[in-house]
Amino acid sequence: MRLFAASIGTETNTFAPIPTALESFHEAFYAPPGQHPEDPTLCTAPLWVARRRAKAEGWTLVEGSCSWAEPAGTVSRAAYEQLRDEVLGQLRAAMPVDGVVLGLHGAMVADGYDDCEGDLIERVRNIVGATVPIGVELDPHCHMTQKRVRNATLIICFKEFPHTDFVARGEEVVELTLQAVRGQIRPVMSLCDCRMIGSFPTNIQPMRGFVDKMSALEGKDGVLSISAAHCFPYADVPEMGSRILVVTDNRREAGDKLARALADEFFAMRGKTLPDYHAPDIAIDKALQDPGPVVIADPSDNPGGGAPGDSTVILRRLIERKVQGAALGPMWDPMAVRLCFMAGAGSKLQLRFGGKTALPSGQPIDALVTVKKLVRDATQTFVDATIALGDCATIDLGGIEVVLITKRTQAMGADLFTGMGVPLAGKRIVVVKSTNHFYAAFAPHASRVLYCDSGGPIPRDHRRVPYTRVQRPIWPLDEQVQPVLLDY
Ligand SMILES: [Zn+2]
Repeated sequence: MRLFAASIGTETNTFAPIPTALESFHEAFYAPPGQHPEDPTLCTAPLWVARRRAKAEGWTLVEGSCSWAEPAGTVSRAAYEQLRDEVLGQLRAAMPVDGVVLGLHGAMVADGYDDCEGDLIERVRNIVGATVPIGVELDPHCHMTQKRVRNATLIICFKEFPHTDFVARGEEVVELTLQAVRGQIRPVMSLCDCRMIGSFPTNIQPMRGFVDKMSALEGKDGVLSISAAHCFPYADVPEMGSRILVVTDNRREAGDKLARALADEFFAMRGKTLPDYHAPDIAIDKALQDPGPVVIADPSDNPGGGAPGDSTVILRRLIERKVQGAALGPMWDPMAVRLCFMAGAGSKLQLRFGGKTALPSGQPIDALVTVKKLVRDATQTFVDATIALGDCATIDLGGIEVVLITKRTQAMGADLFTGMGVPLAGKRIVVVKSTNHFYAAFAPHASRVLYCDSGGPIPRDHRRVPYTRVQRPIWPLDEQVQPVLLDY
């Protein structure tokens, strides 16, 4: 038996001011065949799992290239076509194969391609033919397009947000693809469009219960897998929106019925799935009433959603209010990091940092800072994965410490701070740029977690996103909406 595995991933914010080029992939993550690291990454779990199983079970895995770019603006046509054609060329060379597993993010948009993953899966299908199983793992912040469902054999999304289950779902993709290759199952998919835009953290109700319900329905009555595609709201493409995907063992009618019922339930949660988002001063007021450390998350400047990650709005209020015992990270500013390295650890310098990339990110901060710690090629941890931060500098503004990073990314692991000489214990306030991926690692250190909307580049109120191309009607842009079962 021969399986082929590869991965191309990014999450494209079509409104973001930072273009995504080939170097964006090479800078964030790029592993040509055989060079995938020992640890899995968020979008490469299928390859990582398949590598392990092939070794244990004595079949052949042909590894294709894997790449990932930190979420940003539209991918250049040349970058997407080069990465795609590299993988397709490897697949052609590997033929014949008995199955394919792909780790994709699912919200990649390139110049001329609204649905990069649909395009890729369709081309893979054309190479392998109609009967070879293609298993795909996607992030729930994806566009679950009809083209993908038409061309893949089975698709499984991470269920958790934060995405702590990316390896577990990768195991399922590989296992079900192997079962399909062996003819033990005949996966068919049912797709229901909820006609809704939203954000659905799974660590809080009602989404926690919905995820548990989906899991409980799997493995019986021919239900192989259930995915809730949350949607990725910051993409102006027609098929953006929440969808339910049910994979059954050749029970299309029952799958359709279940997908429709779950879509109705998912849709009924609209507007009820989010925590309160406070204005910066309210969040700081609330935090100062608590012994701390209080973690304040700012999703509106989350680089994981394509925001630059250099907003100074909350930091400026912390400075102006002379808050002591605060930390903030990550702040993306490669130029400021370089100046800190030139000055050296322990030195004082007048530094301008942050607020450089987007209008809603505020103005740069000018301050006399002490360079507290410098680390070359620093990293943070997310579950089993190590996330590169590039060269980093911790600066002390007199009671407020800021972690400056070179490789743009969101707060995911507490070692973002502790690895940079900033202990969380004893802090009053820790501000993180992240929507929810910070939660699993930071909540155990926090006396309280608050969410803040600093008015950054990715607004929490989706009615403020200037869509022109999304399919209408869709909630909350329209009120008269209901879920629709899709043919594909
Ligand atoms: Zn996601």
